[in-house]
Amino acid sequence: MSYDNQNIFARILRGEIPCDKVYENEWALAFHDIAPQAPTHILVIPKGQYISMEDFSSNASDSEIVGYFRAIGAVARQAGATADGYRILANHGKNAHQEVPHLHTHIFAGRDLGGMLGRPK
Ligand code: 5GP
Repeated sequence: MSYDNQNIFARILRGEIPCDKVYENEWALAFHDIAPQAPTHILVIPKGQYISMEDFSSNASDSEIVGYFRAIGAVARQAGATADGYRILANHGKNAHQEVPHLHTHIFAGRDLGGMLGRPK
């Protein structure tokens, strides 16, 4: 599978589609999820063209990986999520129901997030 540069997050990165931005650095962009599932629901995406964690962990440079993961932590701190806790989640592929084929890490916070996984459909 090759990277689809027309995916919605690629278009957000290029400024073709607006987003509610909360953070940006050299490596990452973070914005509010359009359909939040918690009081805080932020998506953090790398600036490079990576389909998912599989692609990113295989092909990104060490600088990209460090920059991206530091950005996730910074976004959670900036959102005030560290004291009461937060969850990060990145879906890869069919079984995880990944919808957008550009790596994104969800940050959920602001309420008790319950158990780790829902039941299979
Ligand atoms: P996935 O299931 O791929 O892990 O999650 C994709 C997420 O992207 C969903 O939570 C969905 O609400 C969010 N999303 C899809 N399209 C847009 C969009 O155009 N803007 C924003 N901010 N979020 C989006």
